[in-house]
Amino acid sequence: MSSLQYPLESRPNSVAHLFLSRAEATPGREAYRYPVAVDGGEEWRSLTWAQTAERVKAIAAGLLALGVRGEERVAISSSTRLEWILADMGVMCAGAAATAVYPSTNGDETAYILADSDSRAVFVENAEQLAKVAAHKGELPGLRHAILFDPAPDAAEIEGLDVLTLAELESRGIEHLVKHPDAVEATVQGIAPEQLATLIYTSGTTGRPKGVRLVHDCWSYQAVAQEATGLVLADDVQFLWLPLSHVFGKALISGQVQSGHVMAVDGRIDRIITNLPVVRPTIMASAPRIFEKVYNGIASRARAEGGAKYKIFLWAAKVARDYARTGQEQLVATGRRTVPLSLTVQHAVADKLVYGKIRAAFGGSLRGSASGSAALAPDIGYFFAGAGVNVLEGYGLTETSAGCTVNPADDSRVGTVGKPLPGTEVRIAEDGEILLRGPGVMRGYHNLPDKTAEVLDSDGWFRTGDIGEIDKDGYVRITDRKKDLFKTSGGKYVAPTEIEGRFKAVCPFVSNILVIGNDRNYCTALIALDESVIMPWAASNGLAGRTYAEVVASSEVHALIEGFVQRVNAGLQRWQTLKKFAVLPRDLDVEHGELTPSLKVKRPFVEREYADIVAAMYEGSREA
Ligand code: AMP
Repeated sequence: MSSLQYPLESRPNSVAHLFLSRAEATPGREAYRYPVAVDGGEEWRSLTWAQTAERVKAIAAGLLALGVRGEERVAISSSTRLEWILADMGVMCAGAAATAVYPSTNGDETAYILADSDSRAVFVENAEQLAKVAAHKGELPGLRHAILFDPAPDAAEIEGLDVLTLAELESRGIEHLVKHPDAVEATVQGIAPEQLATLIYTSGTTGRPKGVRLVHDCWSYQAVAQEATGLVLADDVQFLWLPLSHVFGKALISGQVQSGHVMAVDGRIDRIITNLPVVRPTIMASAPRIFEKVYNGIASRARAEGGAKYKIFLWAAKVARDYARTGQEQLVATGRRTVPLSLTVQHAVADKLVYGKIRAAFGGSLRGSASGSAALAPDIGYFFAGAGVNVLEGYGLTETSAGCTVNPADDSRVGTVGKPLPGTEVRIAEDGEILLRGPGVMRGYHNLPDKTAEVLDSDGWFRTGDIGEIDKDGYVRITDRKKDLFKTSGGKYVAPTEIEGRFKAVCPFVSNILVIGNDRNYCTALIALDESVIMPWAASNGLAGRTYAEVVASSEVHALIEGFVQRVNAGLQRWQTLKKFAVLPRDLDVEHGELTPSLKVKRPFVEREYADIVAAMYEGSREA
């Protein structure tokens, strides 16, 4: 038996406790798998739980030797990789609190987070991350130590900062343990559930980010609640690419320590497609964008193969969606997932011809996959469900240490975010806002009591800012985000995310779309196209040899996109229709600040950036 099987009510004080128990319970089992560069190539290596514990204890003891004390902040500025997990677990086992910083966060904001959190030490991935800290060291008097994952022998000395490598920190820790062999165990035993474990700064769409205070009990709860859903099993191999600086990724580690399965870690987004067949995961979690990308990739390959093959793909995709949708509707209505015989037969044929290849793209062993952090377009959800890739949508926020609701594996309902995790309560306020209560909810925003009071009431209910409903079977559906609901100047409500979802469902070329219309008399859209999908189309439609910027500015592409806009408009209320649209000169990305690191569009930012294009779409609009 490899599960630790803690019941919800008597969960341990912290994931640090859980981790030490895990290493004792299954020392020889594989814990982590990670890629290592070997002459010209890469190979995956592994750590057992015992080896992981040895390194984590050395890191924790190293931090204690540096003088880091209970609840003091230690930041981590790194992409998703093994060392992130070791460092975070080391911080936890030292009783300190980790502060996550996205590696893509610019220097100013990194400095703001380090200063606001009053971080005493920072783990930095490489010389690039160290340089950001160095440039702002003058504003960070409390920051004493920087610990490098990748050694940077050429890095200049930084006044007031002790720079050491992770290996050096571990050596100091091992020396410390010689003198104080029980230092780490004793520290872990002293951790109280309400002690600060993590400060995660919310990406936010406006203003400075806010530090969300998550205590040890939040993660201990996540660990036990995730296992109680039955979605993670001891024998699973999970593939982890999500940013660990975001709660969704971070929470997965708690669940993994509880259930004891293997986690294969590689945060490089451009390697996901090549990693999947090598890792052959049984479970993985993703933001919806990855499922959209996989879908678009498969569709564009089929289109490139042309004629009959493309027709077969389109037919198979429709069969998948119809099969999954019909099955779900029958299940909801009658309690049985019955599908008409003709559709079942078509589905079996499509499975042989097409779906097997789709499952193979995920490595061929996937048992289930979670989607969260933004809405999964129902058509994408139905497509994968019909093709035998079980994508279970869930929902949560930074302020709730991630998972609050998730779809059950045996009764997943596309278009919903599933049911509350055991121990979490969901309520809908009078105005439709989703309210949440449970052990995973934050204890407040760091040093911002007024902001905390705006969202957290004295009974522990947290206002999510999302609008939703709960159906008769207890499934939660998110209908919009409160702050994104806008009214046109005609006084009609428009839910932009709904229109964006519909557009994404019909247009395989779109990468990002932003519907605009607040206080305007009609709606418009800014549309960015996926380079990997539009370029092959361009090449076979008379635009070979053109650059991406030339392709998206062409009248051919405008006409192509116009067709999809018209299709979407046909199904909308008159006041929701997109009267005009513009194709953007390049895709939105994290580097330019248009997407949050969890790949959500920062609406006000993009609208400001393309203010001229938006203005042109509303020229003379009062008459329109
Ligand atoms: P973050 O704190 O960055 O994780 O953002 C939390 C917000 O993401 C929520 O308040 C929702 O607006 C959104 N979100 C998370 N999961 C979903 C989902 N499955 N569907 C729609 N929106 C979601």
